[in-house]
Amino acid sequence: MTIQENFCPKCGGKTENEGLCNTCLRSDIEWLTCEPRLPCVICPTCGSIKKVNTWTDVPYDRQKLSEELAFGAVSAHVDVQDLELAISTREISPNRTQCTVYVRGILYGEPVYKTCETLIVWTKENCDRCSRLSGGYYASTIQVRATGRRPDTFERERAVKIAYDIEESVQQLGERLSFITRIDDTRDGVDIVVSSHSIGDTITRQIITEMGGKATRHPKLIGEQDGKKVYRITILLRLPEFRKGDVIMFNKRYYEVKGTDSGLIRVFDLIEGRSNVLHEHDSGFRLIGNVREAERADVTYTDNDIAGILDPVSYDIKEVKAHAWLRLSPHEKVKILRDHEEEEIILVG
Ligand SMILES: [Zn+2]
Ligand SMILES: [Zn+2]
Repeated sequence: MTIQENFCPKCGGKTENEGLCNTCLRSDIEWLTCEPRLPCVICPTCGSIKKVNTWTDVPYDRQKLSEELAFGAVSAHVDVQDLELAISTREISPNRTQCTVYVRGILYGEPVYKTCETLIVWTKENCDRCSRLSGGYYASTIQVRATGRRPDTFERERAVKIAYDIEESVQQLGERLSFITRIDDTRDGVDIVVSSHSIGDTITRQIITEMGGKATRHPKLIGEQDGKKVYRITILLRLPEFRKGDVIMFNKRYYEVKGTDSGLIRVFDLIEGRSNVLHEHDSGFRLIGNVREAERADVTYTDNDIAGILDPVSYDIKEVKAHAWLRLSPHEKVKILRDHEEEEIILVG
């Protein structure tokens, strides 16, 4: 039995390999390559970074990004094992970073070392989002209106807050081209102008979930792009006639509105002290005010089902029905609204 002995065809030395010996292999291959120049495009407005024609939002930290780019510039041969990289960077000008990458590993049984130099060239370019934003690009307009009235300040602010919260969350999810182009406060309501149909629909759904109402979509063809029809959509969102907390009179009774769904007004009966529903299409509702605007008044005395309330404006004592659900007791505060038509004080809680 003989052991097969191999000889290296290059240096003639003994080897266990089928071809070149390890020493010749090591000197024969370019085990490390390195890109000398790395262009990196950054949006000067929002700090997004362009990677192969695609913009992405990454928190811009020049040092970290330099390291990441420089590591990415280095590629080692597949036979290098236990590869270790270290880096030092030097800012040579506002748009140039010189990087030295120190590389070591094991190649065919022996340690190898090398350093490589790479230059990062920073360039500035407005990203897709910032150029759309500065160009006033939009795809949908949500017109926030109300039924039979104008949205009040509270509703306007709430709708705007919902819109910004949604913009924030979709941006975080990486939908970088979904943003609010602008918001116009108009006499009749608020116009929320947005850059994509999807964010427009999401904002609309959320406003309706939180504030009630309904929406209709009106698309308008504005052209074609890459063979696809491009639409702009106007969404008319009508908030319900009555807001949450509105106190209304219906059939000589007072109710506090708790919400509206599909034609029904959920109310709290301010006499009986229990929940009920009214039908939106009924007529004869009269709006008194909203519990958010209620005044606070002192209960001066109670006598069975009668209570004396100190009017905080006129300082007169007014006698009212002390409905059982209110559980009034003297020297406590109670919230009141005024029905100017009936010259009555309504206890709302
Ligand atoms: Zn050899
Ligand atoms: Zn940008």
